[in-house]
Amino acid sequence: MVYETNNETVDDALERVFAGERLDRTDGIALLAQPVEALAEAGAAVRDHFGDGTVDACSIVNAKAGNCAEDCGFCAQSVHFDTGIDTYGFLGPEKILEAAKRAERDGAQRFGIVVAEKGVSKANRPEEWAEVLEAIRLVREECELEVDASLGILTEEEAAILADEGINHYNHNIETSPQYFPEVVNTHSFEDRVRTLETAKEAGMDLCAGVILGMGETPTDRVDAAIALQDIGISSLPVNVLNPVAGTPMAEQGADITTEKIVKTVAVYKLLHPESRVRLTGGREVNLDPDEQHLPLEAGADGLLTGDYLTTEGQSPGDDIEIIERAGLEPNMDANEFDPEAVKARREGGETSAETTASTGTEPSDD
Ligand code: SF4
Repeated sequence: MVYETNNETVDDALERVFAGERLDRTDGIALLAQPVEALAEAGAAVRDHFGDGTVDACSIVNAKAGNCAEDCGFCAQSVHFDTGIDTYGFLGPEKILEAAKRAERDGAQRFGIVVAEKGVSKANRPEEWAEVLEAIRLVREECELEVDASLGILTEEEAAILADEGINHYNHNIETSPQYFPEVVNTHSFEDRVRTLETAKEAGMDLCAGVILGMGETPTDRVDAAIALQDIGISSLPVNVLNPVAGTPMAEQGADITTEKIVKTVAVYKLLHPESRVRLTGGREVNLDPDEQHLPLEAGADGLLTGDYLTTEGQSPGDDIEIIERAGLEPNMDANEFDPEAVKARREGGETSAETTASTGTEPSDD
């Protein structure tokens, strides 16, 4: 036995993960029913065994906001819902570079350029496509950051171009299980999302794809989403928790999940995806109290989205460093050797997240 939590189901699963076995849906469902304490220990053991003991921070810029033709029921940027957010066209390469420099200073290792729509289309909007490429080149030239993109549905040609430009991760969340997806989105399908992820992967990009918890899904849906991601093959798994935005269909029901269930899901995701970064992203500040935010990190999470989200503000990057430290972990500095004390000092000087990134951001990095 490599590690013991004194829970037979959890210890059996741990032993198999450490032996290189991939856990399946039956394992995931059985694990999610186990006590949070054993799962958290197991998630942390897997993170420590397969990872480098660091927490990787990424940051995003909402490069084009609102007026999206899609109808994702959680999203403030859909034209179908009256959410009153600020809408704007593509920010332009210089403003994106400005946001990247702030993210770099605040400890981000990767920087995601996010555009709110079904897909940035090279054929239909060639000027916008050219600007996206220019922004990628500028950030890659001038910052010590991995550059990621979240531009919606991709053609093979577009994916090949992005891979050539050096995009590291392509983000396209699956949101939930295949069977629950139609309860959340009507204008495109789960399969559309999987196809884009496959296209991005075939072009050579790593994948960042995850979920939103608390949208009314069952525990089995949570497991099924993670199993679908196993089949796709991802290296970063963002775990958002619903931040109900007034005007969206999901706002009426509110986030339907407890802290304990968030922590258990994070731990089980780490067991199902031992070699991927399980990343805490949108909605964590809204759904977890300040003194609870380190708990998912103690249960195996090893990534954070820091700064603002797409249309809502996040907390100060200095607070995020403290959460990492409270969990007994260190920030990753592979791409950007920043000064954690300076980041914390800027927060103590009263600088807010809104002043440190150009994102106007809500919930999940998501297109
Ligand atoms: S999640 Fe993305 S595709 Fe869906 S409505 Fe929002 S911006 Fe559009």
